[in-house]
Amino acid sequence: MNKKGRQAAEMKNRKRKWLLYFCIVGILSLSGCGSTTQENHVQSTGSVPIEEMKAEADIFAMDTYMKIIAYGAEADKAVEAAEQEVKRLDTLLSPESAYGEVGQINANGEGKCADDTAYLWERSLQLYEDTEGVFNVMLYPIIEAWGFITKEYTVPSEETLTELLPLTDMKKVAYDAEKKEIKFMQDGMKIGFGGIAKGYTSARIMEIFQDYDVESAMVNLGGNVQVKGKKTDGTDWGVAIRDPKNEENVLGVVQVADQAVITSGGYERYFEQNGITYHHILDPSTGKPAHHGLASVTIVSTDGTLADGLSTSLFVMGREKAEEYWKRNADKFQTILVTDDGELYITEGLADIFTSQEKEVHIIKK
Ligand code: ADP
Ligand code: MG
Repeated sequence: MNKKGRQAAEMKNRKRKWLLYFCIVGILSLSGCGSTTQENHVQSTGSVPIEEMKAEADIFAMDTYMKIIAYGAEADKAVEAAEQEVKRLDTLLSPESAYGEVGQINANGEGKCADDTAYLWERSLQLYEDTEGVFNVMLYPIIEAWGFITKEYTVPSEETLTELLPLTDMKKVAYDAEKKEIKFMQDGMKIGFGGIAKGYTSARIMEIFQDYDVESAMVNLGGNVQVKGKKTDGTDWGVAIRDPKNEENVLGVVQVADQAVITSGGYERYFEQNGITYHHILDPSTGKPAHHGLASVTIVSTDGTLADGLSTSLFVMGREKAEEYWKRNADKFQTILVTDDGELYITEGLADIFTSQEKEVHIIKK
């Protein structure tokens, strides 16, 4: 298959997966899953029940199918503003776009950061330190080398990886926190916020919804879910956790309000060569796909940005290190770990809100 054909097939496959995922979330949290409205619409104003003041949008951005649903008197304006924000951040944070800030910094090796980029850089640097280098946004040149950006996948040679690994050292980036200026100290370095951008985007949408007094909302950015408030019937949102091995199977459901529920798994983006599967979450110490016994990691947190960064990080760490990390940071998040051999572990803060019909659930205690 040529490149276009391959991309079209992949796009179709991902759209199908996304619709299925949304249906899973939808069945549990909304009424029905057949609605794929292309435009925002709010049904009425005045003294109408909240469930009728609904607006929704389907968007394709950040290489992801996204769904936004909001309830409130100004839900239509809120969803419109959210859509604009997604588009703005997509350009701003794209590592390649000549029109975006991150793309320009990557092209010039330096630049001034406006608020979003500065915030994400600082959060990423903090995560890099907290995770001892496991979360690393400077891995981008290696992600490119594997073809995860162009979708022309290749397994890079050991020489290529040895050449590129020194470019991923976050300490070789000079950052002036006052002036918000960034400068790469070596040629060829590039930032990629792919491991954190969607969580930041969903967190930003929640802020916009706050400004528009949206009472109840859900965004699903390709399996990265964040909810505002409860459902309009006053119950918590049910977010399905899929089986990493079988996309049609739900492993369990977590009931939440005002939380992000963000999952990373090797099944989200991968290719196969000579019978070996290579996925998109890389171990920064080797530049190769991380295989430390986990098939997926879900993070539950009020902080969407943190949840996204940590879902990627804990996946790389593996179960034991992930548990230790959680024990040191149990005030900030809870987690659901699914191992390669299908075992399900949840941290104790989820014990009352997570249910699984399928599996025995192991509880991780502090
Ligand atoms: P998704 O974007 O599919 O929801 P993740 O949040 O796990 O999944 O992010 C994976 C993306 O993050 C990769 O596509 C890549 O761009 C980037 N990435 C891969 N490995 C790392 C890592 N160790 N640290 C930071 N970012 C990473
Ligand atoms: Mg992530």
